[in-house]
Amino acid sequence: MWYPQLTIVDVKHGGIDQSNLSVTSEQSTKKTVALFSGGVDSFYTLLRRRTPKNEGTTLPVIGELHGILNVWGFDIPLDKEDEYREIENLLDSVSAAYGVKNHSVKTNIKQTRFSRALWGGLSHGAALAGIGHLFSNDYSELLIGSSHALPDLQRWGSHALTDPLFSSMGMTIVHDGANASRVEKTSLVAQSTYSLQKLRVCWKHGAANNCSSCPKCLRTMTTLKLLGKEKEASSFDFSNFSPKLLTTLHLQDASDVSFIDEILDLAAEYKNKEILEGLQTAKNKSKVYSTLVNVLGKLQALPFVWRYREKLIKSVLSSRTT
Ligand SMILES: [Zn+2]
Repeated sequence: MWYPQLTIVDVKHGGIDQSNLSVTSEQSTKKTVALFSGGVDSFYTLLRRRTPKNEGTTLPVIGELHGILNVWGFDIPLDKEDEYREIENLLDSVSAAYGVKNHSVKTNIKQTRFSRALWGGLSHGAALAGIGHLFSNDYSELLIGSSHALPDLQRWGSHALTDPLFSSMGMTIVHDGANASRVEKTSLVAQSTYSLQKLRVCWKHGAANNCSSCPKCLRTMTTLKLLGKEKEASSFDFSNFSPKLLTTLHLQDASDVSFIDEILDLAAEYKNKEILEGLQTAKNKSKVYSTLVNVLGKLQALPFVWRYREKLIKSVLSSRTT
């Protein structure tokens, strides 16, 4: 069991109304919608089914896609309306370029008791699937982009083993893209110039461009640099990027280690010694300083002190190389 501290809840229902079990004619026509946030997983799912109208790329198309779906209240808080409008503009542009319908849903689910369930590790897949079911009159299949690849799947709220269990007669939930690692996905996305320009992996600066300094940005930028695509990836700022920056990355868990290991393999393939050394140093330091950084991480809960938490962690990690 992933989380032994949790207990099984006995769910009871008041019976099933058989008259509602038939599948409507709209549902019987198979249509597919994908959750889309603008990141690598989203573009990978999109590009395997649609090619941008203005690009003659020959990416491998494995199926159909008719719509993309974004949720306001997950990455962008509900009180950041201006930021969400920018996301809607991005989605409008992507839907026009790929010829798919664009849907937005606004939800306060993260402001309810549901948020007490561990969002990343446990509950977000259920929330995504639940929202997908709202569209079962128009679509019969919902694609949720995978974070990790088989067989290296971590325990996570959206997972190849659990997402399909949220399916119903009217909507099949598919955990999509677990065949490819994050580096393999980025390589495919990098074949589409349009997608590279629109790629959005980070919400640290709200709806503006990627912050280009957080761990997620740095991992993506390192992969793109190794692939020789930094000029085309205009949603990132490469002006301050250097392999030395990678030494300040802190790998918090098995998920972080697996992402870095993928990039290490790519750096070895491209024989990029500086990036290899930067990432390897980050791995070594993360092991050495894991206890101290975990203690600093708990400062998040203390009033006033939390403001300095990130600075303290960065200063510990940049103090020396191992
Ligand atoms: Zn970032």
